Amino acid sequence: MSNPFRFRIHEHGPAGSPVREDFSPPEPRPGWVRLQVKAMALNHLDLWTTQGIPGVKLPIPITPGSDGAGTIESVGEGTALPPGLGVGASALIAPGVSCGVCPACLRGDDMQCPAYGNLGHARDGTAATHVLVPAANLLPVPANWTYPQAAAFPLVFLTAWEMLVHKARVRAGEWVLVWGGGSGVGTAALQLCRFLGARAIAVVGTESKAMKCWDLGAEHVLVRGEMKELLSRVRDITGKRGVDVVFEHTGAATWEASVSAVARGGRIVTCGATTGPVSPLNLQALFAKQISILGSYMGRREHLWTLLGLLQRNPSNPPFVPVIDRIFPLEEYPEAQRHLKAGDFFGKVVCEVG
Ligand SMILES: [Zn+2]
Repeated sequence: MSNPFRFRIHEHGPAGSPVREDFSPPEPRPGWVRLQVKAMALNHLDLWTTQGIPGVKLPIPITPGSDGAGTIESVGEGTALPPGLGVGASALIAPGVSCGVCPACLRGDDMQCPAYGNLGHARDGTAATHVLVPAANLLPVPANWTYPQAAAFPLVFLTAWEMLVHKARVRAGEWVLVWGGGSGVGTAALQLCRFLGARAIAVVGTESKAMKCWDLGAEHVLVRGEMKELLSRVRDITGKRGVDVVFEHTGAATWEASVSAVARGGRIVTCGATTGPVSPLNLQALFAKQISILGSYMGRREHLWTLLGLLQRNPSNPPFVPVIDRIFPLEEYPEAQRHLKAGDFFGKVVCEVG
């Protein structure tokens, strides 16, 4: 294996601009652990961190990458590890780091902690051969899973679970419109809808992604074209009622359609705005249709344990698995970023350490 290296954002630039540099992985302080990264997965957050976000000051220089999995290499003095883990064990990372002592953390809503921030966004992340993480952010890798699968799992499944189960409180039999069905979070949402007994309508950009959405349990798949036609299809499918829940993460390009597509009394839950954060909102539609709009960001770290527990119930036939689009060697992390930016992917883009 080559010398330890990491990718670094010294100044904001286009997708693919982080530079590779050698580094000496530091020793973990008490409470923290050093992981030898075996695989990391990209998220849109990697691109936001690289490109910069207007009005948000990020701590650069920084190593991007929120998702990762690897082996526990060293442990800070006096640090207890979560159940099932020890030095040398395989672990996956919960991407969100919080203070652990504030009221939000103590009630389990760590993602509402004032100090909450993701690896690769608030502190150095996983686009490196080694990463430091709090011991509390480690979980065991499910039996029979590869490192790329383990790395591709946490952020999108935690996000989709929080949105569907805890924010929108999706019930069996309800209609859920999932924008970007081929995205990382979309592929997680479709599988979780199937698991929850909800009826998903996936929206995808191209015909080639449609078949794959069927495999993930979508009951209908609509290929993006004219928005008016798409909305009319949604009305037909739902018997003119509209969907109970809209799973939003695209933002400006779809927001008005989301408000149109949702049924009276329905919920729109959103975790992102990849096409832009600003969109008009028709207040008359909001109150007359009695729509609930729910903002969501990440999810309780505890719920990653819940999800792993659900997977353990039937390891040979898991109810949901991360969908991997493509695996790059870590050396090609900038290329992986450009692949994500180009948008022609289905599922997660992953980098593996050789
Ligand atoms: Zn806290």
